[in-house]
Amino acid sequence: MSPKKRNATKSSQSSKVSREVTDSEVVVVNGLARKMYAIAKDHGFHQETLLGRPISIERIGVYVANLHGEVSELWEAARKGRLNASCDKPISLTCAEEELADIAIRLMDTAVGLCVNLGLAIKVKADYNQSREHMHGKKA
Ligand SMILES: [Mg+2]
Repeated sequence: MSPKKRNATKSSQSSKVSREVTDSEVVVVNGLARKMYAIAKDHGFHQETLLGRPISIERIGVYVANLHGEVSELWEAARKGRLNASCDKPISLTCAEEELADIAIRLMDTAVGLCVNLGLAIKVKADYNQSREHMHGKKA
């Protein structure tokens, strides 16, 4: 299936999705996060395990900078009008899909590196956001 057809199918299904983040979805997110951390570690991005140890402000800066780098790549693709163009890797993804995947992978890696239960944090924040007023009280 082409990336454009895939996107059209996904957006037509979004209104049917339950808004509740389930416990099993929390487990899936955390499982993915641990895998993303392990892959990054296998590729030399984590020379030593920092789990359970104090994390330096410099190390946090690296995590944040790498995450920001992926966000910037998404922005650059948008600026160049290439969001729906094929990415430059030998994989079947648009630039938007590739960069959003990179952002998610970096985010999950960062969460494990900072000892954050990302799945639970998403559930708690999503539940809170659903309780907030329209536009979270901001005027459009
Ligand atoms: Mg990227």
